[in-house]
Amino acid sequence: MKKKRRINYFRLFIFLIILIGLIAGGVFLVKEFIIKKDDNHFIQEQKKDNNNEIKKSPLKDLNYSDDDIKIINDSLSEEHINYLVENKIKSEDIIPIVKETYYIDYYLKDYLSYKKENPSKENNLIVQAVNTHINYPFYTHIEDTDESLGKFVLLNKYYKASESYKANDLIAVSSEYHLYGSNFELSKECYEAFLEMYNDAKEAGYGFKINSPYRSYQTQVGLYNKYASTDGKEMADTYSARAGHSEHQTGYAFDIRDFPYTNPDYSKTKSFTWVSKNAYKYGFILRFPKGKEYITGYQYESWHYRYVGKEAAKYIYDHDLTFEEYYEYFVKFKNPRNLK
Ligand SMILES: [Zn+2]
Repeated sequence: MKKKRRINYFRLFIFLIILIGLIAGGVFLVKEFIIKKDDNHFIQEQKKDNNNEIKKSPLKDLNYSDDDIKIINDSLSEEHINYLVENKIKSEDIIPIVKETYYIDYYLKDYLSYKKENPSKENNLIVQAVNTHINYPFYTHIEDTDESLGKFVLLNKYYKASESYKANDLIAVSSEYHLYGSNFELSKECYEAFLEMYNDAKEAGYGFKINSPYRSYQTQVGLYNKYASTDGKEMADTYSARAGHSEHQTGYAFDIRDFPYTNPDYSKTKSFTWVSKNAYKYGFILRFPKGKEYITGYQYESWHYRYVGKEAAKYIYDHDLTFEEYYEYFVKFKNPRNLK
């Protein structure tokens, strides 16, 4: 008797578990259904809103197509849409620019005026020029750089740092890793990445050492003046930065040379072949690449590397960008289109 009763309890227990399972499952399904329905409803409403917005858009009067209006509504501020209307900007003058990957709405008026001055220039080059400020001559329209950005601080011919600026985590570079001089320093983050790269290169049979890492504002004053007095300012500007504009002041940049030394032209060394292919994996970029002199304002420098972190370095490497282009879109304007 006793045994039988125990079995009944057991069956009851199993039954209850199944019942609870079924109820929970049912509740889950009903909930899912309600959420989906809500979502669908929301999407439908949004579509309706978008269609209404397109229908009543003032751009209709300027013969913008529905697709064009959608592109404009998705990318331009209301103020800028009004600007298009008030200035009767034709769709063919603005749509190709907005469609460019690195379009930054803040620069709308600059894109339009630069295009007007350069009607035959391709749209990607219009966006590139305005984003990197090369629509202005070098060393004009200079802004104070945001010194709080660490590895993303941009110093070039349009962005400058104050006299006192330097990375706040500068540490000494061991003499094992640099060629001559003493008291060499780099940002700790950059130095650690350098050591990782250095060791992997060594293991693969390639050698290099640091030639010039962090340089203070004052050091740069002396250096630039020396070059300018020998070669003249115009020439010196192609290879040396004016004080406050040098990447070396950040503590996130350095020059290297092959070691053992084989060639005064680093780009012709075996070491360079390895470094140029692998640096991005450690967070470094070739800062002044060949063919981008018109953006960076410097001659091609196979020896100058800049630490920007692995994610940014990979993006820059994969998309063949300069730091100027990356900085403006991803750092300063915080990736407005959520590009991956
Ligand atoms: Zn350098």
